[in-house]
Amino acid sequence: MTTAVIAMAFLLWTGLIVGSFLNVCMYRLPRHESVAWPGSHCTSCNRALRWYENVPVLSWAVLRGRCRTCRSPISVRYPTVEIVTGALFVGGYFAFGLTPLLPVRLLFACAMIVLFAIDLEHQILPNEITLSGIVIGFAVSVFLPPGWRSALLGLLVGGLFPFVIAEVYWRLRGREGMGMGDVKMLAMVGAFLGWPLVWLTLILACLLGIVIGGGALLVSKRGFGTRLPFGTFIAVAALVCAYAEGTVLRIYEQAIHAYLAWAGIAS
Ligand SMILES: [Zn+2]
Repeated sequence: MTTAVIAMAFLLWTGLIVGSFLNVCMYRLPRHESVAWPGSHCTSCNRALRWYENVPVLSWAVLRGRCRTCRSPISVRYPTVEIVTGALFVGGYFAFGLTPLLPVRLLFACAMIVLFAIDLEHQILPNEITLSGIVIGFAVSVFLPPGWRSALLGLLVGGLFPFVIAEVYWRLRGREGMGMGDVKMLAMVGAFLGWPLVWLTLILACLLGIVIGGGALLVSKRGFGTRLPFGTFIAVAALVCAYAEGTVLRIYEQAIHAYLAWAGIAS
């Protein structure tokens, strides 16, 4: 009991601080700035932030979302990312327990949070994350679940299957339906989560894309030529598959059984 409380408090605090760093990554990676130097500064007046302006969530709340000197608004995205990261760190305790897999899955969750935000805002998925993610994901899978065979299969399915779809789409429509960034991101998901979770991530991401993306496009009336931030949907789908592996696999198996039963009756 006490161990659980201490572990959760530690994970929450670590998650909030890591979330604060993820904010820096989201802002600087697409701008090709170093994430390590210089320290945090106001993006409007460029003033370096003091330590007490850098406390996750609290500083934003106390300053009421404005810079202390230039009074320009600080996006609600900053505390949101910190809270989401903190929640995923605590959630990791329940999903993976205090096992060697926990830090690996938390690292994966951090990468998904950053890719989610960068793809949503800039429609790019930086190679710094996706390519190094493929290498790191596969390397740790040699020692930890899902194991190297599953990770290799996941990497190939994640990287090749969408590539084939993208190629077909390109030939049929003459434009990019799925970018190479999405393909690399799915290969990374495969390297970390293995087969069949990467396949389920792809299915779930497509469903999210159709429902949420389709709805958003209808509302904004921009037509279907607009490129959807597919990486944003992959990130959500991959997090669901990583954190609720058992449930997702059970639903998938039940769906297949239901389909087979239906097909058996129908034919
Ligand atoms: Zn300022």
